[in-house]
Amino acid sequence: MSSRINTDSPIRIAVIGSGPAGFYAAGHLLKDGAGRQGAAGHSIEFEVDMIERLPTPWGLVRSGVAPDHPKIKSVTRIYEKTAAHPRFRFFGNVALGEHVSRAELLEHYHAIVYATGTPVDRPLGIPGEDLPGSHAATEFVGWYNGHPDHTDLEVDLRRAERAVVIGNGNVAIDVARMLVLAPSELAPTDTADHALEVLAESRVSEVVIVGRRGPAQAAFTNPELLELGELADADVIVDPEELDRALAVHDAGAAENITSRRNVEILRSYAERPPAGRAKRIVLRFLLSPVALEPGDDGHLGAVELARNELVTDADGNLRARATGEHETLPAGLVFRAIGYRGIPLPGVPFDGRRGVIPNERGRVLGLPTDSDSGGVPDAPGRERAETLPGDPGVERPESGRVRGEYAVGWIKRGPSGVIGTNKKDAQETVDAIFADASPDGEGLNVPGTPAGAAIERLLRERQPELVTYDGWASIDRHERSLGEAAGRPRVKLTRIEEMLRVAAGD
Ligand code: NAP
Repeated sequence: MSSRINTDSPIRIAVIGSGPAGFYAAGHLLKDGAGRQGAAGHSIEFEVDMIERLPTPWGLVRSGVAPDHPKIKSVTRIYEKTAAHPRFRFFGNVALGEHVSRAELLEHYHAIVYATGTPVDRPLGIPGEDLPGSHAATEFVGWYNGHPDHTDLEVDLRRAERAVVIGNGNVAIDVARMLVLAPSELAPTDTADHALEVLAESRVSEVVIVGRRGPAQAAFTNPELLELGELADADVIVDPEELDRALAVHDAGAAENITSRRNVEILRSYAERPPAGRAKRIVLRFLLSPVALEPGDDGHLGAVELARNELVTDADGNLRARATGEHETLPAGLVFRAIGYRGIPLPGVPFDGRRGVIPNERGRVLGLPTDSDSGGVPDAPGRERAETLPGDPGVERPESGRVRGEYAVGWIKRGPSGVIGTNKKDAQETVDAIFADASPDGEGLNVPGTPAGAAIERLLRERQPELVTYDGWASIDRHERSLGEAAGRPRVKLTRIEEMLRVAAGD
């Protein structure tokens, strides 16, 4: 790739969203952009402004990673280094589509990088899904992690002894583990105070994790599955007969996959292990698909109706679940749906409603399909979509092909897969596309009318007088840590926007 750039002025990039993907993209832009030469041979600078809907950065590292996984959260130290770069600015509490339009950003930046993630759950699409007691894992995870959108979620853990978690991914494991952690395991974490109170009163003693396929097809990773077997207060139960039935059909792909092979070994060891008589249990069930959530006498969730499956090989050689016609009813007062996340459309930005991502080619946003294909995906709570901001011409995009100067990164680019580190490589690909497009033989970036850093800051402050800078976030961070120190916890999270703004402003 050429290290020469087709201009001599600084290249200004807006990154929308401050999770891992946004921060890795910003980091690559600032680090790998340094030293590139402009058209006249002088060195060119990349400047990054990060626009974040919340007053706080870090995306899912703050509001998705389980509170009992502090080591994973320590990745923010890398992002802090990026944030300290002199050509980086953080504009928090600013929402694209509400305070600033895509068209206005294109007026001020050479490129926009969308790093907005996939904030809503994929629905099961079965009757009873909206019964009280049925929760999207996305909401529950946000709630126990203190995400301000979910602070008021009502999770009644006192009325149910059994909870069912649908899905065989790591989110299902996180949710199940959080439901059975011992008070001594929860105490040193940064779990939101409101969640600690509710968890302390929980009557849930059994959590059933339900997979529609078998153990070899599960999306768990090995350390997460192993961790279930090491909990202080819970036994992990696997029925050996069900395990054998679910493993009876050979899966060539899984046999070649080291993670799947190890998952099967771990699950076999659980099936052989006698329960240790702990107060709670996590039960892993396979070959079952929920077909309806049934209300109890009080109208609250009472049971999950499950269809038994068998595994069949599809045309591509993958094993998929097929209903056998047999059913099973599992009484349960709580259900958590953990079958994956989805992106939501951003005003004026192309969106592939089927996949729930921004259509793109190696990070370069493509013009089609439009957000009329959004499939009725609801906006996240608290997320308002104003489509008529001044200067926004509405949905304006070419019939097909590239949208110049617009890029995607992370889950909104490739869908909700991989671990935090996966986003580093993903961000590198997107940033390489930006460098290639900015080079003399590239397709070019956007040409902004007002590429001055002061102008966009003025506009944003006009639209959002309560804009939170990185210094504002640093005040919130210090405040939370000092509250935590007194309690022997990493931090006590602020969970209301008003509180965050007060602390950010130094009041
Ligand atoms: P995921 O890994 O994609 O797992 C989704 C699960 O839902 C799969 O088992 C899938 O089964 C199942 N599923 C999908 N549709 C279903 C349906 N209609 N009925 C029943 N089951 C259905 O998603 P995730 O758990 O949300 O995790 C997202 C990403 O974050 C993953 O890459 C995960 O590893 C990562 N993550 C990592 C950690 C960690 O490292 N500690 C923690 C949390 C999340 P099929 O395979 O049959 O489709």
